[in-house]
Amino acid sequence: MFVGRHALEASLFQRNGRRKQTQTGDWVLILVNAAPLVLLVGFCLFVMSRMRKGFTRFENSGSPLLRTGIGYDLHRLEYGRKLVVGGIELPFDKGPVGHSDGDVLAHAICDALLGAAGLGDIGTHFPDTDAKWAGANSLRFLEYTRKLLDEKHLTIQYVDAVVITEKPKLGPHFPKMREVLAGALGIPIDHIHLKAKTNEGVDAVGHGEAIAAHVVATLSER
Ligand SMILES: [Zn+2]
Repeated sequence: MFVGRHALEASLFQRNGRRKQTQTGDWVLILVNAAPLVLLVGFCLFVMSRMRKGFTRFENSGSPLLRTGIGYDLHRLEYGRKLVVGGIELPFDKGPVGHSDGDVLAHAICDALLGAAGLGDIGTHFPDTDAKWAGANSLRFLEYTRKLLDEKHLTIQYVDAVVITEKPKLGPHFPKMREVLAGALGIPIDHIHLKAKTNEGVDAVGHGEAIAAHVVATLSER
């Protein structure tokens, strides 16, 4: 009886040991099988986290937010008036009719800059009904516009312009115009580009009755 009880206990002990071994083996088996899945999920979470950081870095990369503005102006040309374009006087027998000096290029630049800044147009700031602007040098408009942009923390990145006139030839005067305009705007000379076109003899500009300018300006926020 005594021996039998011991045998039974030994048998139970062995059975429990085997069960424990079996249970431990099951867990090891589960872990070994689950490891690739756990690794895969971990890798996916890691990649998603890197992508999220990447997008955040892109959004806050510090690259300036750019704004673009377009400007257009046209003045009739009449005999006996001074022709001022891009801040310099050109030898010619006709000049623009206007309240100020009628500098079509300076006016179009002004409008492009004000447009990019969301600050209205040249008429908003320098109305031709105001006597103080009569005969004004349009470079003053550019200098004032530059101040407005500064107050809004906007920097002029680039100005590209086309001046359309049948005569005189503008190309030879561009270096001086760029220098004068860049000075008024407080930008490097290579941040302003000028191009000249004729109107192929068509319409008022082509008939020498008017001069026009188109300008695109790019600003950045700082
Ligand atoms: Zn004008």
